[in-house]
Amino acid sequence: MRFEVLTLFPGLFASFLNESLMAKAVARGLVTVEIVDVRGFAQGRHRAADDRPFGGGPGMVLMPGPLCAALDSLSSAGGPAPLVVHLTPAGRPLNQALCRELLSRRRLALVCGRYGGVDRRVSELYPGLELSVGDYVLNGGEVPAMAVIEAVSRLVPGFLGEKESLESETFSEGLLGAPLYTRPRVFRGLAVPEVLLSGNHREIDLYRRREAHRLTRAGRPDLLDPDMASPETGREPPGSPEGDAG
Ligand code: SAM
Repeated sequence: MRFEVLTLFPGLFASFLNESLMAKAVARGLVTVEIVDVRGFAQGRHRAADDRPFGGGPGMVLMPGPLCAALDSLSSAGGPAPLVVHLTPAGRPLNQALCRELLSRRRLALVCGRYGGVDRRVSELYPGLELSVGDYVLNGGEVPAMAVIEAVSRLVPGFLGEKESLESETFSEGLLGAPLYTRPRVFRGLAVPEVLLSGNHREIDLYRRREAHRLTRAGRPDLLDPDMASPETGREPPGSPEGDAG
């Protein structure tokens, strides 16, 4: 999986890429991240990359020239053409399903805005995906770019040590994850649920599925699909064609 990040603040990515699982994935060649300094494509003595908005208003706007020149520099890099991802709070909200879609594109060019935003003509000239990491406004697209890189990279086969860790986690089956416990067995009067100590993997699996459904109903009912399989049987609920058949 290849990411190219177009940013005015390349230094922000240093520790992100040099620590923990991300650094390992880069070292193993599972993930390639190229940070493109947009300032390097700016013209003039001051290499200005932003200017005041036409029509007035607060905040500076990233000029199209440097960003488009930076995007042009990517096409010569070879491999599949990148999907250009314009990071903006006005974009399509990122979720796990969209992360899987992005994984399938194999090469993403992430355009980080700053200040008041980016000149509209950049996304018109380089159509791709306008993407938001949530309904709030950050100072720039760098933190959203890191969120995209990390969420998509985790789906690259081999990125995580155990395949299990992807399968049972939150959103993997459209549900929140079941609660986790580790040592000690009792902490400040709170005991680990007995079933998790039982060694009965069938019961443990059922407990986790029940908890995942319960927590999702309580915290994120919007995620629940009315046709979703019941935690007990893993089959469709009664009333559905599959449920009645059994
Ligand atoms: N004035 C813009 C608006 O009202 O939509 C917000 C600009 S924001 C301060 C600067 C840059 O941060 C944006 O161009 C975008 O690249 C990035 N950004 C901020 N919040 C974001 C979010 N929730 N998702 C994706 N990108 C975001």
